[in-house]
Amino acid sequence: MPRPLLATIHLDAMQHNLARARAGARGAKVWAVVKANAYGHGLERAMRGFAGADGLALVEVDYAVRLRELGWTKPILLLEGFFDASDLPVMAQYGLNGSVHCEEQIALLAAARLPHAIDVHLKMNTGMNRLGFTPDAVAGAYARLRAMPHIGTITLMTHFANADEAAPTRLPLEQQMLRFEAGAASIGTSLPRSLCNSAGVLLHHLDSDWVRPGIMLYGGTPSGAPGGTSAQAFGLLPTMTLRSSIIGVQDIAAGEVVGYGSRYEAAGNIKVGVVACGYADGYPRHAPEGTPVLVDGVRTGLIGRVSMDMLMVDLTHVPGAKVGSAVTLWGQGMPIDEVALAAGTIGYELMCALAPRVPVVEATQ
Ligand SMILES: *Cc1c(COP(=O)(O)O)cnc(C)c1O
Repeated sequence: MPRPLLATIHLDAMQHNLARARAGARGAKVWAVVKANAYGHGLERAMRGFAGADGLALVEVDYAVRLRELGWTKPILLLEGFFDASDLPVMAQYGLNGSVHCEEQIALLAAARLPHAIDVHLKMNTGMNRLGFTPDAVAGAYARLRAMPHIGTITLMTHFANADEAAPTRLPLEQQMLRFEAGAASIGTSLPRSLCNSAGVLLHHLDSDWVRPGIMLYGGTPSGAPGGTSAQAFGLLPTMTLRSSIIGVQDIAAGEVVGYGSRYEAAGNIKVGVVACGYADGYPRHAPEGTPVLVDGVRTGLIGRVSMDMLMVDLTHVPGAKVGSAVTLWGQGMPIDEVALAAGTIGYELMCALAPRVPVVEATQ
């Protein structure tokens, strides 16, 4: 029998979440973001789950080519654009759109001789200070691109730093939009726009030509906050369920300790369950005691340190739990955002870190 750890990818939930994104996009076309192996879900699977998207967006040039080879015929966008001159003929050959965010990329484009025109997203830095031209520099960048015969359509793009927060103390979305509008106006012609990530789609209602949701398509929320901004409250469904089983049980007395570092000490007599899932599977090692885990449908919590192949849970109040009991680490019945919050991270990181050794199956339910 294989080790009982299994990740199930729910394709129908992907379709459902895509429809949810489309409903929030105010008529904008949807780039389904599939970077990082589709947030750990598998590129080919995501291509099928998001077959209804208007385009797929990612950062890996080789994965973009792979999407074409797998038969994706609609647009593909490279969110970081190209990394050196050798990427440009590949983009032209496979019809890949690319973001253009710096002078070095413009110089490479100016020097390139391409057989087909490529469409670009001109990226504006409106305060995040990661990638993009400042609002002052964007008109110059636009003019140089527009003069190149091998540049097709140009879409203006920016990325929000705090779209997930209701009242951020720094760089609220409105401030980024003011800068964006100033940069856009300086260009002198109206360009198509690509603005919102998941947080923008869920919490702000901006008009644009394209949206770029990622995490919401996978049933997570940008902030990971429980309550009114939880995935459930937004009508999103989990797309990845990580399940395992109890493979060992220990009944221990008060004062006994559990796991590496003996970090956990039993205050009373308790029943410890050992789950076949550890940090080498992508479960966060820094998840603290009490991080929620579902055993036989009952919520309980982690005890002791997560080890490479196993973690321990408290079975004292899980009636009938025994070797073979079903465990859900995250997904259906156990929101990934809650696990992430307890572990001091975000659902994105948990999904993306699913380790290659974990077998993956698909389900339509
Ligand atoms: C990853 C990414 C997105 C998607 O972000 P989510 O928060 O997952 O919705 C959108 N735009 C850009 C430029 C990105 O890099």
